[in-house]
Amino acid sequence: MESLSEFEGEVVAVNPNHEEVLGFASYGGVDDVPGEIDLAVVAVPPDAVVGVVETLGERGVVNVVVVTAGFSEAGGDGAERERELVGAAREHSLNLVGPNCIGVVSTPTKLNATFGPDSPVEGSVSFMSQSGAFITAAVDWANDEGMGFRHVVSLGNKAVLDETDFVEAWGEDEGTNVVVGYLEGIEDGGEFVRTARRVTREKETPVVLVKSGRTEAGARAVSSHTGTLAGTEKAYEAAFRKAGIVRAHNTEELFDFARALDTLPLPDEDGVAVVTNAGGPGVMATDAVGDSSLSLAEFEDTTYDALDDALPDAAAFYNPVDVLGDAPAERFEDAVSIALDDPNVGACLVIACPTATFDFDALAESIVETAEGTDVPVVAALMGGEATKEARSKLSEGGVPSYFDPARGVRSLDAVAGYRNAKEREIGEVREFEVDHEKARSILERGREDGRLGVEATPLLDAYGIPTPKGEVVETQDEAERVAEKIGGEVVMKIVSPDILHKSDIGGVKVGVAREDVRDAYEDLVSRARSYQPDAELLGVQVQEMVEVDEGVETIVGFNRDPQFGPLVMFGLGGIFVEVFEDTSFGVAPVADAEAREMVNSVESSPLLRGARGREPVDTEAVVETVERVSALATDFPAILELDINPLVATPEGVSAVDLRLTLDPEEL
Ligand code: ADP
Ligand code: MG
Repeated sequence: MESLSEFEGEVVAVNPNHEEVLGFASYGGVDDVPGEIDLAVVAVPPDAVVGVVETLGERGVVNVVVVTAGFSEAGGDGAERERELVGAAREHSLNLVGPNCIGVVSTPTKLNATFGPDSPVEGSVSFMSQSGAFITAAVDWANDEGMGFRHVVSLGNKAVLDETDFVEAWGEDEGTNVVVGYLEGIEDGGEFVRTARRVTREKETPVVLVKSGRTEAGARAVSSHTGTLAGTEKAYEAAFRKAGIVRAHNTEELFDFARALDTLPLPDEDGVAVVTNAGGPGVMATDAVGDSSLSLAEFEDTTYDALDDALPDAAAFYNPVDVLGDAPAERFEDAVSIALDDPNVGACLVIACPTATFDFDALAESIVETAEGTDVPVVAALMGGEATKEARSKLSEGGVPSYFDPARGVRSLDAVAGYRNAKEREIGEVREFEVDHEKARSILERGREDGRLGVEATPLLDAYGIPTPKGEVVETQDEAERVAEKIGGEVVMKIVSPDILHKSDIGGVKVGVAREDVRDAYEDLVSRARSYQPDAELLGVQVQEMVEVDEGVETIVGFNRDPQFGPLVMFGLGGIFVEVFEDTSFGVAPVADAEAREMVNSVESSPLLRGARGREPVDTEAVVETVERVSALATDFPAILELDINPLVATPEGVSAVDLRLTLDPEEL
């Protein structure tokens, strides 16, 4: 094996049947090996693995890679075998990779402890993958592209070491510029988010991930709006955003983004300058910019003047700058340098198509030189095959990412800008509120055995400082009248039953009930509930203060629990059509103040909150605070599985939680 002989350290085999393996000395057992062992690679039959790992642990070996398959992935007694393996690893505090993996690579020492066919070249991207096959494919491809790696780890079953451990370790590793991962699931979502956030922000090491496969949200039936609207995908989005992770949507993006983040400076501006020798690709680039978070840079007048001086009359000076089909490399160079001098230009994409006279090599050399002399990220799209090959490797060596498709270049620039945004994003503080924890607990304890609670649990919100309208749940017409009188003016009356999920669907909500109609309304609500479902459990009728819905906006604030990332808080445009609009944003609890503000401002209908069509803006800070208080409730009471405040009516004067629904796991209380 060529790769083993390149390794700068010493290699020995342990195999009782041979004195020599592949030219390396072989010993009968682990205990016979002289000297210290830095790393053991275990590739013995499944039944023998745990015994070998125990021996290694007893001998003081700390780093172990288990290549052998036949553990939790295999069914049968595999799961039990994996538990034993974890036990042995824990007992000896082993750093154990695998089992069921293809091994690890570390290029600085030329260590290739995998059974993949190729060794990667040395670089500063560290790469982990849950799929071993994907590693061999990626290394082969990267070698072709001239892209190097520092560490490569096949995570396998992640029995001991998982993605969080490697994000953490590579965040500390001076030689790692970018952490890249291909994951199918995440072991401990909360811990992963905290670690990745520290690494992306404090260690300034970008983390790029592609996530494949679906994780089902568990078998529990969802009975909240939040639960219906949340789901795995939203949880990943929210968690990755919180962690500052750059998300790739496919493997091409994964390595495009990794390379861009490895080699390019971070842009100061979102404006992109496009310099091209052909119109069509310029339009394609413009479309790609439109789909991204970037924009086409608007040049200063001095830039237009300079372009006008430097380029032929027929050229287009407006961005995208078209230097025309007959442009030699020098004309590109002039246009690119002028564009880079413009303060609105934060990034530059150079597009070149082959023409009869065009010299790609000269262009590549000039781009490399220009890129070296600027803090603005520059990428290239060389839209040809064989003719561009030499030029592409010149660019690659010079640290300028190049692509065939201009859109790939734009997306890579977008990823770099995305990392800058993530790094600089204001998170704020997780505010501590004065809440009545005991009162909240006692309300939850009084809840029904099946854990479904509705407006009768409104005092829970009072305990957490979330404003609610005055109201009570009553069981007779007389009581209804008494409460209506106490509240004064017109009231709202609602049926209260755990069996009726959406009250207004069955006419179970009466808004603007006058005093003299309260008795009739009570009767009507009860009979509606009865005819809807004769055996529905009726807790009574809620008589509630009217809230000025007309002057406000109905929003929804809620949470559910994601199996990987824990409590996921939702904000959105609420009311009975919430699932129709699906205008929502999510945050992983605990949600800090700036995060809550971003959630509120990021829904599409947020202009409604700021006072659209001459209306007075609502008190958005009260909405933001409610999101934070709901996040606190979610964090404080793991027993609450899901909760909706829908609507939380937001008016210029503040907010009011008009309706509540939650599901509890009474066992957890
Ligand atoms: P459900 O969601 O079960 O149908 P809600 O209590 O949310 O029942 O009421 C449905 C709608 O009735 C609300 O979205 C809101 O428009 C209106 N409504 C409910 N309570 C009040 C109230 N106290 N003041 C004004 N309007 C209300
Ligand atoms: Mg409702």
